[in-house]
Amino acid sequence: MKRLSEKIAAVAPSATIAISDKAKKMVRDGIDVISLSIGEPDFDTPRHITDACIDALNRGETHYAPSNGIPELLSAISEKINRDNHFPCTPQQVIVACGAKDAIYEAMEAVLNPGDETILLTPAWVSYEPCVQIAGGNVVKHAVNRKTFQLDDSILERVTSKTKMIVVNSPSNPSGAVFDKNSMNLVADLCQDNDIYAMSDEIYETLVYGKEHVSLAAIGDMAERTITINGFSKAYAMTGWRLGYAAGPVEIIREMSKVQQHSISQATTFAMWGGVAALKGDQSCVEDMRKEFDRRRKYVILELNKMGYETAPADGAFYAFVKVAGDDMEVASRWLEKGHVAATPGSAFYAPGWVRLSYATSMDRLKEAMGRIRRVG
Ligand code: PMP
Repeated sequence: MKRLSEKIAAVAPSATIAISDKAKKMVRDGIDVISLSIGEPDFDTPRHITDACIDALNRGETHYAPSNGIPELLSAISEKINRDNHFPCTPQQVIVACGAKDAIYEAMEAVLNPGDETILLTPAWVSYEPCVQIAGGNVVKHAVNRKTFQLDDSILERVTSKTKMIVVNSPSNPSGAVFDKNSMNLVADLCQDNDIYAMSDEIYETLVYGKEHVSLAAIGDMAERTITINGFSKAYAMTGWRLGYAAGPVEIIREMSKVQQHSISQATTFAMWGGVAALKGDQSCVEDMRKEFDRRRKYVILELNKMGYETAPADGAFYAFVKVAGDDMEVASRWLEKGHVAATPGSAFYAPGWVRLSYATSMDRLKEAMGRIRRVG
């Protein structure tokens, strides 16, 4: 038989799979595993959003829609960006995709040529590098400061004549760190001085605790070279809806639109009506969930610190990033096998020696999990 795609063969399977497969098998065997490895809110989607989707289905919103998204949602997103993210954005500068992940994939395809370099700030979420690779590009990794999780001038050393893009993810999955103005300004200067595009993944923007979320596109002239990624999964507990979007320069959105037209066609029509309700409706659900995450965050960080673990500044998202002694894969295996707590080894995010714990689970389960980790060490 002829060989399959070399490009896809070069993409590594997710490093999280081994642990999560093991955890699933233990659950199947009847073991009470507490999963702190999942990246999704434990809340259900707020009722007014599901109702809007059901209404849309009942009135027959079951047909094809414009590829970039229904006009009502494109307008709602552009209004939200002008209001909350403080950079100018028209509905023509928005494309709705099947989740933020799909928007990231389309943006990479639209921007990168084979051999182009993309700077990735580590620790980094697992899907950026595969998306760059699938688009034919290469990743150049740059480790952020492991105490502050902020940037300094050393980032400038990563720029080469091939650098085309930099990916910024604040608040960060997996570290929970929120970039301050200084880090964001460094990225903006780097992009403007070297003619580099930026992808700013702001999917966790509503989950910040006592820090200010800064949108990269709102700095200087960055709107003309930034693709802002966002979605509904985290802020509105809509992970299964597969609804996300990108906002950026019309020339980039036009190219992304071609990728979309010839692949997924569009996001699901009735799901987009749920998105309209999310953005236009009462926002107190977002704040209620944020407050509950904050309560859990304080508890988990305090408990881990009491056990002697150093943690990354947990200023955003819903992750505690924990420094461990020794091999992170071994620590995660021990917690799972002996303590029945599933966590994600930092190696999956290019940060060996760290482990990511998601606190998007109930307080009772978190208390139980902390007790188990304390017992197995
Ligand atoms: N970016 C980051 C940093 C994420 O953590 C996730 C989800 N884990 C996504 C993007 C993808 O989100 P969506 O569900 O909208 O595809």
